[in-house]
Amino acid sequence: MTEFRFRGAVAPLRRPAAPALPRTVDGVVAALRPEEPLHCLRPAQVAATASAFLAAFPGTTMYAVKCNPEPGMLRALWAGGVRHFDCASAAEVRLVRSMFPDAAIHFMHPVKARSAIREAHAQHGVRDFVVDSAAELAKVLAETGNAADLGIIVRLALPKGEAVMDLSGKFGAEPAVAVELLRAARPVAARLGVSFHVGSQCLEPGAYARAIALAAQVIREAGVKVEVLDVGGGFPVAYPDILPPPLSAFMAAIRDAFQAAALPGVQLWAEPGRALVAGGASVVLQVQARRGGELFVNDGVYGALSDAGVPGFRFPVRLLRASGAASVPFAFQGPTCDSADRMAGPFLLPADVQEGDWIEVGQLGAYGGCLRTAFNGFDRAGMVDVIDPPLLDTPGYFMPAVAA
Ligand SMILES: *Cc1c(COP(=O)(O)O)cnc(C)c1O
Repeated sequence: MTEFRFRGAVAPLRRPAAPALPRTVDGVVAALRPEEPLHCLRPAQVAATASAFLAAFPGTTMYAVKCNPEPGMLRALWAGGVRHFDCASAAEVRLVRSMFPDAAIHFMHPVKARSAIREAHAQHGVRDFVVDSAAELAKVLAETGNAADLGIIVRLALPKGEAVMDLSGKFGAEPAVAVELLRAARPVAARLGVSFHVGSQCLEPGAYARAIALAAQVIREAGVKVEVLDVGGGFPVAYPDILPPPLSAFMAAIRDAFQAAALPGVQLWAEPGRALVAGGASVVLQVQARRGGELFVNDGVYGALSDAGVPGFRFPVRLLRASGAASVPFAFQGPTCDSADRMAGPFLLPADVQEGDWIEVGQLGAYGGCLRTAFNGFDRAGMVDVIDPPLLDTPGYFMPAVAA
């Protein structure tokens, strides 16, 4: 499994050796009594969510691998019909190719290592590359030997939108530069496209509509034929304090804006990450100490709960035993010695939570396990497959029922 390890210092999620484990979170925890964080993957849920997204999106859907590159997660997405993958590094390209010889891999990072371009193109059949500068276009051409079958996708910068996490500040060409890039790339590209990213956990369907209108304006101004309009990722999921508009509202906004843009011969692509996998995994924590309203747990911001730290995401939680006590707000303290390793929540749990209890934290399939570090030696965590539904429902996806 060494090829699946991105950071040598971080132990991969290990599947427990125990034969024939129960298939529910409660059953597995009763059997294993885990003292390390236990990631609970819901493959059927992921496959159903992916297939719902694929059916709803009026174009080609690729999965943004960075969001959760666990092999079990990638297999579940494949089972749900995902055949296109958005990769951003040589390691991601290698991982996807090693698992799926027939996958279509797209290199969607606007600033790439030269060696990564060479390897992706020469060894892994990657043809589509994103650029947001003339220098990067020249780099792609040089490292692919001016290949005749390149897809060049020009990443467009967007004005800051309503997304919880802005992804426009760092990459993207301003409209005037994008116009020049489209003109420069047309003669050397077998297919040409425009992409953007409205920001992760975007709560406003109109953000996609405005970005599509801007992209259409850039395409018209460039005056060259374009084959692809890639609306990126950013599709939201529910958290305890956030109920996003349903998936259908985003699809309707995209369809309407695309129709209004009147771009004949252009096909739509999307690059969802979070929306496909967030509900598809949870992490079971164990309480190692309780001090008033602070629960000292065995995972934290240097582990799978990075987004519960400074970004301040709230996550759904559940105590894994019966309790008659009313729920009250708690904060979590992570296992490392850094005082920044605290998660304010609030996490609503029965008032009698105590040392030794297990707590399941939901919606961690996205940007959870992939952000783990080995800081302070807390890098070990396990993984099991379960059939439980997610802890939170996101409007617009089909949630398979539990067959316990
Ligand atoms: C991170 C990223 C995505 C996925 O974003 P989500 O908000 O998780 O959907 C898609 N495309 C690119 C280029 C990204 O960097």
